[in-house]
Amino acid sequence: MEFKEHIKIIENYPKEGIRFKDITPLMQNGEAYRKAMDEMVKYVKGKDADIIVGPEARGFIVGCPVSYALELGFVPVRKEGKLPREVIKVEYGLEYGKDALTIHKDSIVPGQKVVIMDDLLATGGTIDATIQLVEKLGGKVVGLAFMIELTYLNGRDKLKDYDIFTLMQY
Ligand code: IMP
Repeated sequence: MEFKEHIKIIENYPKEGIRFKDITPLMQNGEAYRKAMDEMVKYVKGKDADIIVGPEARGFIVGCPVSYALELGFVPVRKEGKLPREVIKVEYGLEYGKDALTIHKDSIVPGQKVVIMDDLLATGGTIDATIQLVEKLGGKVVGLAFMIELTYLNGRDKLKDYDIFTLMQY
């Protein structure tokens, strides 16, 4: 399947100069969404992961179906103030902005093998912060998986110690 046929490119959103990749048409198409998730499932299975971690909100769209398919737990990483129990926090820079991400302190058992999943790899800032959170809790990051990679933003350079799988590259 040509997954890119289901991605829409929005010029100058959310800011001037950004070419936003919209994954909602892919999700809207049952066959495309299912096939994209099947590819992600294959990758995660090969990594022998114990648990999946995904940053809000689109990391849930990618991580949760895989979690369900492989009967693995899913741990949400969220913006500050959104998780109800004790958290740890990491600050990070975005392709367009700055933010902080949090994770529940008791969500990873030290030594657990973790695959981190999100919709899109841009500069790698979001995933770098997510990796820091997982590693602070003693998790071992065995892989990173994304539907889309914006190769011109060189996110891989920031993440060169990790195995990366991406379904589509721009
Ligand atoms: P990074 O931290 O620079 O790698 O940016 C990745 C994060 O920003 C992901 O969580 C994406 O959901 C979001 N993002 C950045 N650019 C786009 C885009 O073009 N389409 C959809 N999401 C994007």
